[in-house]
Amino acid sequence: MGPAHQPGAFALEVVETLIEAGHEAVWAGGCVRDLLMGREPGDFDIATDARPDQVREVFGRARSFAVGASFGVVLVRDRDGREDPVEVATFRTEGAYADGRHPDAVQFATRQDDARRRDFTINGMFMDPRTGEVFDDVGGRQDIERGLVRAIGEPEARINEDKLRMLRAIRFSASLGFALDPATAEAIAAHSQEITVVSAERIADEWRRMLSDTNRAVAVRLAIETGLLASVFPEVPTDGYDAAVERLGHLPQSATATVALAVLLVDVTDPGAMCERLKLSNRETDEVTWLVASRDGLDQAADQKRSRLFPLLAHPSRDGLFELIDAIERGAAGSGDDVAWCRSLLETVGSEELDPPPLVTGEDLIAVGLRPGPLFKTLLGSVRDAQLDGDVRDRDEALAWVHEIRRENEPDE
Ligand code: ATP
Ligand code: MG
Repeated sequence: MGPAHQPGAFALEVVETLIEAGHEAVWAGGCVRDLLMGREPGDFDIATDARPDQVREVFGRARSFAVGASFGVVLVRDRDGREDPVEVATFRTEGAYADGRHPDAVQFATRQDDARRRDFTINGMFMDPRTGEVFDDVGGRQDIERGLVRAIGEPEARINEDKLRMLRAIRFSASLGFALDPATAEAIAAHSQEITVVSAERIADEWRRMLSDTNRAVAVRLAIETGLLASVFPEVPTDGYDAAVERLGHLPQSATATVALAVLLVDVTDPGAMCERLKLSNRETDEVTWLVASRDGLDQAADQKRSRLFPLLAHPSRDGLFELIDAIERGAAGSGDDVAWCRSLLETVGSEELDPPPLVTGEDLIAVGLRPGPLFKTLLGSVRDAQLDGDVRDRDEALAWVHEIRRENEPDE
């Protein structure tokens, strides 16, 4: 890691280089919005009238990569690889969208045209980073002042072009704390069922971003009001909507998208199927499934056997489970006693005790003549429980336990 750099310093340099080479170049879209709102931009995108091949000529082939050649996007990196590369996109318009997601063709165009192909007025501005001058042909500055997410142009037409914009609209509205422009909201409500033409990956990505944000409850409320929640998560019962929003509001700000998703899906019979439909990763799917399946696992924690409790407390998603149960409890004005009890237990019980090395392994069972199969698994589970519950304390006791169970199971076979 090099020394800390001024955010945007490299993106400023790229703009200056393009201008020195005789081109028009500006910062574009989200970074301009964030700067006008006094927020630090996540990244700085550049728009230019230079064609992709001209951009590559200015920076040299070694420092530039045509990432979205057909869209006119070139990635430019700095000389020593210290800064994140920036995207330089040629001003363009987009042709028809036959599939509701991708333009059939793009045409290089003027800065004004490029503003109009963008989704929302707050995202449709440019800035000269040398002077701070803002180029706003779409009323974006006024909408930032009013706190409004509004489609550029005719909302219905813009949503028909690209249905993903529906989810983007509620995401920006929730995360920025802006209202949805009524005409934009109406167009989303009218087309919410069509969100399914968008690929699962893109849908999932928007949900990840909404659910990891501290304003996740607002995002879900907007999704409910516009019908997008029902389209993406039809299995969530409508009479559970209010409870879901309330529970999400009780999650700590730092909760992950996966924990928030589990909170949303907690009353769904088969959350794993929904995760698979959204093409979530195996890790996410496993975590959501485990969290939902374990939601009652800490009930009466103080009276539970260690063999039932400790595997939950030793699980890598344990803290997420605490968050989920706390959120459910608070939503239901429950006591929260069980989670509190577990948290204090963890102050005295170390990981070695929660998840001790097994006294008996599969190899031991094979050594005494057992072959892997259902009984084998039962035996291992049972001796593990006995170990956690303190019924066997060393290897000899554990092996004796195995023999005992084996005898009980054998005669009938
Ligand atoms: P974020 O903070 O989420 O990154 P962003 O505004 O930078 O917000 P990006 O997805 O990074 O969003 O896109 C950059 C810009 O590209 C947007 O500000 C917008 O002008 C334009 N854009 C992105 N996606 C779309 C879309 N689906 N339709 C139209 N314009 C879009
Ligand atoms: Mg961005």
